[in-house]
Amino acid sequence: MTKFTDLNLNAKVLKAIDEAGYESPTPIQAGAIPPALEGRDVLGIAQTGTGKTASFTLPMLSLLARGRARARMPRSLVLCPTRELAAQVAENFDTYSKHLKLTKALLIGGVSFKEQDKLIDKGVDVLIATPGRLLDHFERGKLILSDVKVMVVDEADRMLDMGFIPDIERIFGLTPFTRQTLFFSATMAPEIERITNTFLSNPERIEVARQATTSENIEQGVVIFKGSRKDREASEKRKLLRLLIDAEGAKCTNAIIFCNRKMDVDIVAKSLKKYGYDAAPIHGDLDQSQRTKTLEGFRGGELRFLVASDVAARGLDVPSVSHVFNFDVPSHAEDYVHRIGRTGRAGRDGKAIMICQPRDEKNFEDVERLVQKEIPRIENPLGKAKPAEETSDTPAKSDDKPKRTRSRSRKADKPVEAPAEDKQPQAEKAEAKQPQAEKAEAKVDAKTDDKAQPEKAEAAQDERKSGRGNKDEKKSRGGRGRGDKRGGNDNRVVGLGDHTPDFIGLSFRERI
Ligand code: AMP
Repeated sequence: MTKFTDLNLNAKVLKAIDEAGYESPTPIQAGAIPPALEGRDVLGIAQTGTGKTASFTLPMLSLLARGRARARMPRSLVLCPTRELAAQVAENFDTYSKHLKLTKALLIGGVSFKEQDKLIDKGVDVLIATPGRLLDHFERGKLILSDVKVMVVDEADRMLDMGFIPDIERIFGLTPFTRQTLFFSATMAPEIERITNTFLSNPERIEVARQATTSENIEQGVVIFKGSRKDREASEKRKLLRLLIDAEGAKCTNAIIFCNRKMDVDIVAKSLKKYGYDAAPIHGDLDQSQRTKTLEGFRGGELRFLVASDVAARGLDVPSVSHVFNFDVPSHAEDYVHRIGRTGRAGRDGKAIMICQPRDEKNFEDVERLVQKEIPRIENPLGKAKPAEETSDTPAKSDDKPKRTRSRSRKADKPVEAPAEDKQPQAEKAEAKQPQAEKAEAKVDAKTDDKAQPEKAEAAQDERKSGRGNKDEKKSRGGRGRGDKRGGNDNRVVGLGDHTPDFIGLSFRERI
């Protein structure tokens, strides 16, 4: 078996690896480090969790150990799709470069330009950035990329999903033709293939097996759920999530709850909080300081439930997450693998539970096809779909009765009996205290457009609208506003105009 000492790495880097406690290189490291050290381009097809960050960090540090950076001219560049990933890569650099005198800067959105400019002005060996923020700095004339010797593109498939490919192409064009490129992607979509054919020169291609799909230490399960009534579906689904969490009891020390839409991330986090669960949201629309605080809280064990979008949680490395709940079936099957891979890390046991609605069936089939096994069905703790009154999580009686404001319908306001077979008295008690919570949620549900685009599609769409655009995760893009998303700003009435087509006048009676 290959050892780190066989790989020709700088002695000070080897010392840091030893101190990090790594015994031997992972397959992607053993494959990528030698050609990278020879100065060759590398195309790594590997997912997060395979040790791919060290597979480019370690050779880069060894290559950069000699030489010094000039003001505003970084010697190397690492591009990451999200701020969290960029921050994680920066942490890796700190770990492995602790015995070297190298400087680095992290250019991500949500952090003041002034601080970042100061660092760049001094000269940095390693610049870690999200594409939008990097181009912003470049356009402000604060950055010169003509001295970049090594460029890394990390998680290229995610860059593609988020619409960053035009940015990446532009950045490639701004760096010298002679640079070395280390390019990583979990999958090779045709567009990624095109980029690598254009910008990589005779790369060493290393492909490592899909991780987590075969990971036996993650227990998986799926609950098939159908709302009792369309207008109750969303709140019933959140109730189901609470019941699933409660059913895990103390085994669920912490969990990441994934939603497909940013809007749902907010709603689910808010709802859990209202019911006394220690939860906080994380997605691309939240400001950076809040995201960092939430993540630190989760990593440090102060926050129990992290409600997340794929983009924000992609590649996050929190070693001991006991559970992953998929509030939605992801629309891309590979995301299921990424999501559940947040638990069961480093040989620990993990559990991944997913809620599947009838509309998710196709996506669910794709997931099962990808993981090549049948995901065991878990009994729905809400029971089978019943009439609305039976399954509603509206409390039976409450002193805390909300004032009768303009209701959506008389029936919806009517107090209903709690389900007799509900085995969760505690949750029910909490609910009884929270009629306002459900009410508020119901309002949100009414506004929520089920057809809203998933986060990454939104990002991509915004990207196309604004040309290159300039904000990471499209946070502050002018593009599409919330109003548009919910159809709130669109007052047009679509009708038939003056002309009424003939078929309108026809009877619907079946012809015999
Ligand atoms: P990554 O795929 O870069 O996100 O890495 C996943 C996890 O594996 C991180 O927690 C790393 O610290 C850890 N790791 C990376 N390389 C090794 C190694 N050679 N041996 C053990 N753990 C490693």
